[in-house]
Amino acid sequence: MSDCIFCDILSGQLPSSVVYQDDQCTAFMDIQPVNSGHLLVIPNLHAQGLADLQDELAAHIFRVAKRLSTALRSSGIKCEGVNLFLADGEAAGQEVFHVHLHVFPAIKETDLDSSFLQGIHRSRTGQS
Ligand code: 5GP
Ligand code: ZN
Repeated sequence: MSDCIFCDILSGQLPSSVVYQDDQCTAFMDIQPVNSGHLLVIPNLHAQGLADLQDELAAHIFRVAKRLSTALRSSGIKCEGVNLFLADGEAAGQEVFHVHLHVFPAIKETDLDSSFLQGIHRSRTGQS
């Protein structure tokens, strides 16, 4: 085991549900989803934050997130829109210091601000 849980997921030392992988990045299900279908896209090589990513790798992660957004919309999971979210640094709410882009379904009947922020809050605090 390393000191990074996402590196441990990539090496197979921790279990995960991988939905996509290529030579640069991997996407898997978030263990505490904001909504059903919540995915994380991460670089295959450890990088702490955005500044540690080459521009092309950052662009590739976004490209993959775009493809996953399309997949979510046609998956049968309730998905009327898609949120992309990246917390870069502790002050931004980053808790796992292996950079990751959240991709999760949005549902129209809930207000974007409240569902997004409360969902993030719930996933972090366990409160309802
Ligand atoms: P952050 O707060 O750093 O933007 O997001 C970290 C995300 O990683 C959270 O949404 C959290 O649920 C997810 N997470 C933390 N530990 C694990 C784990 O062991 N497996 C998976 N699949 N997701 C995790
Ligand atoms: Zn790592």
